[in-house]
Amino acid sequence: MNKLSKIEFSGGCSDTPILKERGQREVFCGLTSIIWLHRKMQDAFFLVVGSRTCAHLLQSAAGVMIFAEPRFGTAILEEKDLAGMADAHDELDREVEKLLSRRSDIKQLFLVGSCPSEVIKLDLSRAAERLTKLYAPKVRVLNYSGSGIETTFTQGEDACLASMVPVLSETDEKQLLLVGALPDVVEDQLINILKKLGIENIKTLPATQKDKIPLIGKNTFFALVQPFLGETAEVLEGAGLKRISAPFPFGEQGTTEWLRAIAKHFKIDENSFNEVISAPRARAKKAVQAAAKKLSGKSVFFFPDSQLEIPLARFLVNECGMTAIEVGAPYVHKSIIGPDLALLPNGPTISEGQDVDLQLDRCRKAKPDITVCGLGLANPLEGEGLSTKWAIELVFTPVHGYEQAGDLAALFSRPIKRREVLQL
Ligand code: SF4
Repeated sequence: MNKLSKIEFSGGCSDTPILKERGQREVFCGLTSIIWLHRKMQDAFFLVVGSRTCAHLLQSAAGVMIFAEPRFGTAILEEKDLAGMADAHDELDREVEKLLSRRSDIKQLFLVGSCPSEVIKLDLSRAAERLTKLYAPKVRVLNYSGSGIETTFTQGEDACLASMVPVLSETDEKQLLLVGALPDVVEDQLINILKKLGIENIKTLPATQKDKIPLIGKNTFFALVQPFLGETAEVLEGAGLKRISAPFPFGEQGTTEWLRAIAKHFKIDENSFNEVISAPRARAKKAVQAAAKKLSGKSVFFFPDSQLEIPLARFLVNECGMTAIEVGAPYVHKSIIGPDLALLPNGPTISEGQDVDLQLDRCRKAKPDITVCGLGLANPLEGEGLSTKWAIELVFTPVHGYEQAGDLAALFSRPIKRREVLQL
């Protein structure tokens, strides 16, 4: 991350010492992000090169959501493949051949690596190159790792997007690139506001189709829509693109500051900016106020999971009147979440990484009104009387932008209401 452009921020929690923990952690692996990526990239297929465990994870986590022919699968390496890597490569080529001959709709194929040592030994980047040559120009084959050894669940998206950057073609056109997979409706809303501000040339990564994949160049400015895209940001900056650093577009404040940072780069004057955002901004404020009634004066504790923790804590404290006790994130990249840290009032412990038992002790002692954590911790903590919110839901639900700000607050107020009802 140190290759990312250095931007300094001050105030709030910018200089709060970070509690760094390295121990047992409870987080899903990067394969999980295939669940939202396959919906976004409509002509892509994700072929997980993995074990039966990987197949089970995808089937149980995502299988129920698939009604049409699925756009992901698992090439399971059997014991016999361990006999030699040549066999494993042949087996993979056969699987790809079978898949592509049956499915002419596939235009982008991702080979996704996993944990088993035999998969780690397999050179998937060589396989992707070989298969790209074989199936070009109809299908482009790329690879990345979703292994639980290397990635947490949102890092799967980061690794996927980073794998796409080196093959993007060049353009000199001045343009804005929005980076991160958003639900279509949310993406359209943000693009709509940006166009009203006068920014016409807007592209997205990932794109919905292969033929809409953006061109990039030194006149491309990019803005991340998710805080977990550090590797992608680094690769884009390495390719000469300029990053627009901003708080993330969660809630009224985050969305306004994210839009403002972009508007500044495109030299849009303050009056025009205020004119365009005033109505949706007012709607967002009103919606948050209504949904936040249950949250005001309550406390929140974040376990590290999605990397959304710091921007969400900023939203809950500044807009919903909550107190953050601890904000844990798997990684704290100040170059990415610096603007959110600067807006988060001083007070909470900021922790990076995890030693789950120590963190559970701190959480039990603090008795927060709501705990944001992974599925594995939520049930036992509920059993102990704490209200929890599943972090993974925040990635699956549309939560960005002005129009979703009220829904975002409601996601946190629901568990509190539920517990109040149970206690009656
Ligand atoms: Fe597969 Fe590893 Fe994820 Fe388990 S943690 S599902 S083995 S990639």
